[in-house]
Formats: sequence, C-alpha cells, structure tokens
Amino acid sequence: MNHSIDTACVQGGYTPANGEPRQIPIVQSTTFKYDTSEEMGRLFDLEAEGYFYSRLQNPTNDCVAAKIAALEGGTAAMLTASGQAANFFALFNICSCGDHIVASSSIYGGTFNLISVTMARMGIRATFVRPDCTDEELNAAFCDDTKAVFGETIANPALTVLDIERFAAAAHAHGVPLIVDNTFATPIHCRPFEWGADIVTHSTTKYMDGHGAAIGGAIVDSGRFDWMAHAEKYPGLCKPDESYHGVVYAERFGREGAFITKCTAQLMRDFGSVQSPQSAFYLNLGLESLHVRMARHAANGMAVAEFLAGHEKVARVSYCGLPGDPYHAMAQKYLKNGSCGVVVFELKGGRAAAERFLGALRLIAIETHVADARSCCLCPAATTHRQMTEEQLAAAGVPAGLIRISCGLESADDLIRDISAALDAVC
Ligand SMILES: *Cc1c(COP(=O)(O)O)cnc(C)c1O
Repeated sequence: MNHSIDTACVQGGYTPANGEPRQIPIVQSTTFKYDTSEEMGRLFDLEAEGYFYSRLQNPTNDCVAAKIAALEGGTAAMLTASGQAANFFALFNICSCGDHIVASSSIYGGTFNLISVTMARMGIRATFVRPDCTDEELNAAFCDDTKAVFGETIANPALTVLDIERFAAAAHAHGVPLIVDNTFATPIHCRPFEWGADIVTHSTTKYMDGHGAAIGGAIVDSGRFDWMAHAEKYPGLCKPDESYHGVVYAERFGREGAFITKCTAQLMRDFGSVQSPQSAFYLNLGLESLHVRMARHAANGMAVAEFLAGHEKVARVSYCGLPGDPYHAMAQKYLKNGSCGVVVFELKGGRAAAERFLGALRLIAIETHVADARSCCLCPAATTHRQMTEEQLAAAGVPAGLIRISCGLESADDLIRDISAALDAVC
C-alpha cells in the first residue's frame, strides 16, 4: 500500500485484524510465554521472529517503529529510550575503538558532548566541520578509519540547514554512510533518505511526541548502504557475531534489515536503553497529528521570525524561512513546505535585555525544551551555557543576548502580542 505521508501518520504501523483493538495496544509485559524451550531457543539464535523479553523487542514499540520507518521511507526502525540513546546507538553500531567520525560542528550540544567527550573516552575520534565548509575542507576531514558522517537537517540551536546531498556524496565517496538527525525537520518537512542519507535518527521527545509527554528516540535505516561492499570497514555487520553463534548480519538480514537487527540484538541487549511501551503509546498519539501540527509550528515560526526581524530592539534573527537568512537557499531546496517552529534571535541589549525580556513574557514559558505544543523559550547564556564567560559565549556562537523561542500551536497573533509586550519592557 502506497499511502501519502499524512495517512501514514494516522494509520501507519498497525492494522488491527477483525475484532482487535482499534488503538495500538500497550503490551505492558516484560516477558512472553512459550510452550517449549526449543521455540524460545530459536528466538535467542535470531532464527525465528517473536518476542521473549521487552528489553529487546516489544509489540507496542514495534508498531510505532514501523510507523516511523514508513514516514521516513526506510526499511527498518527501532525505538530507543531517548534521542541521546538513538544517536549513540546509530554511531556505536558501526564505530569501535580506533575508529573516526566526521561530524557537522553545528549540532545539538548533547550530541556534541557525546561525540567529543564520551565517545572519545571509548577511543572513537571525531573531526568537526562547519556545515557550510568547502568541499576541500569536507574531504580533508576523512581518514582511513572514518566510519560515519553525522549531521542535523536543521541544527538545534544554531538552525543551520545541512546540505544533505553534498554530505552524502562526500560520505559515499569515502565508502561510509551519512547519519542525519532529523529531529527538527521531521519527515513531514524533510525526508533525508530522498537526498542520499543512509540512516536517520530522531529525538522523538520533540515534534514527534510534540506534547511534552514522553522522552524517546528512534533510528531508521534506508536499507540502501551496501555494507558487504565495505566488509573490511564494517566487521560488526559483515563478519560473524560470536555472541549469536556466528551470525553475519549483512548476510542473514540483508541491506534492509542488518543495521537495525544488529543494533537491537547487540546494543539494546547490552546497553538496555529501551523505550517503555507506555511512552511508545504516547509517542504514537503524537505521530497521529504530526502532519497537521508541523504546518502550524512552521507557520507560527515564520510569523514570529518576520515580526522579530522588523523590530528595532532585535539585532539579528536566525530562521531559514526568512529570505535574508544565510540558509534560505538551502531551505528552499530541502524544506519546501516549511521548516519548524524554533526561532533564534539576539537582542541589542545583551544579557540584561534578554533576562528582562524573558521575565516579561506571560504566554511563552521559560523551559529547557523545544518543539512542544506550548510555546517556550530559553536564554542559553543564562541557563544551558551558564558556566561560560562572555568571550567563550561569543566564540561558541551563543552571544549573551541570544534567545531561542520554540513556537507552539497557539495563535500566532497571541504569540506576537506576548513577544511585543515583552520587548516593550526591555529598555
Ligand atoms: C533534544 C535533541 C536530542 C536529544 O534527545 P533527548 O530525547 O533529549 O535525549 C538529540 N538531537 C536533537 C537535534 C535534539 O533536539
């Protein structure tokens, strides 16, 4: 069945049989019962499909993962406990000690930390490149041990737009896959596989859930990367796994299934960052309206960005929907139907003005969150980047007067009235 993405949001991943529940059942069970231990043994050997323990697989999670795979146009997907777990698993599934990653420098702070500090402690090195680096700089970042390229479609919080086609071409020229974190765009506004990406990750905590209800993540495989053609680079997928009686994932599960099967069978088994079926149920409720919500988030983001761009107390606005934005051309290519509800801007009055502005907002709440139905905002210099000096803040591209607003689903007029009144309070 080839339905539109809107229909997949509503009905994808689960088709009840006669007399079965209309809504995805929450299978709140850690374990599953079998008549014989031979049957269960086949599951342990990855020789039969089925459920035995919810740390590895659970029917509720599998339905929601199948819906996300359909939305992205992938062949297989899995849920994880968080977006952090999704990005770690996606990278660690193909990188080991001694390996190397090429990553965009414009990525979520948590992911930057994961790659530059925590994965470095595991002996996995990284080279960061600006998303708008030259082809020469991009190619120079690769080395013999490079196993993956990583970037974000719309970066949180810098709001740069990744040139997915160019990064995919560079990755493939070096025989490695491109992994794209598609959290901010969502498959409604960009499907990275259509531009050559091989693996997509999500913090489903953001727009996919969209209601601030459940932390979660997802990994989707395009099924297109030919692991066997680079077997020496990817022994984990192309050589026998001794922890499963010598199964070779790329042979047994093919291009379509090898990456996600290995990630579930090894990493979820050993690290256990599983999403609870209850959270997967909430996530699915969010997905049912994702296509309707994203249009409003983007429209509100655009309206707020336009208002801010014309205000005398605002020094600068970052929003790829604005014609003057450095990433506008990239957005016209990759984000034809709109981008997202997150807008970043800088007040002329610096930190003092930012703090007064935040304090004067009535409708838009101060929160460490984005991509929620309710609008929220944050001053990085006063919160997430609080430990930095003014000089360090400037170097990190986070000046003290910088504010990130996540436009929710309220009326754009009400949001602009709230922002306008708060700007009036800034001297
Ligand atoms: C929030 C976020 C993450 C981390 O996700 P959690 O669900 O909070 O673990 C990763 N990538 C991006 C782009 C994010 O916005």
